[in-house]
Amino acid sequence: MSAYACRFCAAPLTHSFCDLGMSPLSNAYLAPDQLGAAEKFYPLHAYVCDRCWLVQLPEHETPEKIFAQDYAYFSSYSDSWLAHCKAYTGQMLTRCSLGPQSQVIEIASNDGYLLQYFKQRGVPVLGIEPAANVAAVAEKKGIPTLVKFFGRATAQALADKGTQADLLLGNNVLAHVPDLNDFVGGMAILLKAGGVITMEFPHLLQLMRHNQFDTIYHEHFSYLSFTTVESVFEAHGLTLFDVQELPTHGGSLRIFGRHRSNAALPVQPAVARMKQLEAQAGLTTLAAYTAFAEAVKETKFKLLEFLIQARRAGKRVWGYGAPAKGNTLLNYCGIREDLIECTADRSPHKQGRYLPGTHIPILAPEKIRDAKPDYLLILPWNLKDEIVGQMAFIRDWGGQFVVPIPQVQVLQ
Ligand SMILES: [Zn+2]
Repeated sequence: MSAYACRFCAAPLTHSFCDLGMSPLSNAYLAPDQLGAAEKFYPLHAYVCDRCWLVQLPEHETPEKIFAQDYAYFSSYSDSWLAHCKAYTGQMLTRCSLGPQSQVIEIASNDGYLLQYFKQRGVPVLGIEPAANVAAVAEKKGIPTLVKFFGRATAQALADKGTQADLLLGNNVLAHVPDLNDFVGGMAILLKAGGVITMEFPHLLQLMRHNQFDTIYHEHFSYLSFTTVESVFEAHGLTLFDVQELPTHGGSLRIFGRHRSNAALPVQPAVARMKQLEAQAGLTTLAAYTAFAEAVKETKFKLLEFLIQARRAGKRVWGYGAPAKGNTLLNYCGIREDLIECTADRSPHKQGRYLPGTHIPILAPEKIRDAKPDYLLILPWNLKDEIVGQMAFIRDWGGQFVVPIPQVQVLQ
């Protein structure tokens, strides 16, 4: 039993999905002079609603605090992600017949990583982005960007000025929204009568199937199935008429929405197929959700067994990457410098800092050549192929790659 209510349907949250203990905010990387100070830890305990099946974290901190002004994530840093966005632009230009008379609006537009491709093709764009420093980078690229959190008020203000979207999109934002109803209600206001919504989010089905519990962190308020998202959109007069499965972030969905009244876009067979797939996987019964916690514990035990054995055998273990998901994993498992000496990350914003909670130092990847660790534990496992390619030189001294998820595995 908890004191919390479902952020979509307001039913009391009585069922635990996964309790990962106490954890600091996963993007709260520490500077050397902060190591001696107290750190704030929050419960990292996800619940499942037995009425709408929304898996969710209750709020313990304001979004302003979580998505701080110097939010360090710039989407443009990943090559594979940019290729994904460029391909999406090409598809949508054709599918929605977009041109110079159309309006594309992106929610959480970051540094303009995606809208730049629509702009190149001559389609008017508008970004909405709450982090001022990130929005400034977009403006410099010529992407008009409104610095605001998105919801009904922001949508209404734009609609009143005559700005509405032919294509309204948001990638990896729906899970980050504390007030889901205000957000989706705002989308209904901002969408033209004949407009199309697309959104991408990590698929709860993949999280459960592949034990991706480390993607649970405070910035992610919701963990979404198609079935639940369809209910949320339906409650705001929006119909999901198509869905695609994508390989990004360990397995994501791209949903297509429209106003309920817009019969010109018929509901595609993929919608019924997706709901059937989720029902067969147990996502509309409580048992599958409550069984998840056991698989999580088992993953922790196996990872600790591996690391302890490696250290007892005198092996040196380094981490690779300093993603938010790595912080969930390391804090939950209680892994510190006793088991992993340090981690290496390409981002200059993170080098010289320390992981929150565990205080593992973050170094530049070049240091791996000097230290010659026996094992490199890949924390952003969703990018493992890219990383194994970039770091293949560790094999020169017999170094091996290890992934922690879905189960600890030494890559051959
Ligand atoms: Zn609910």
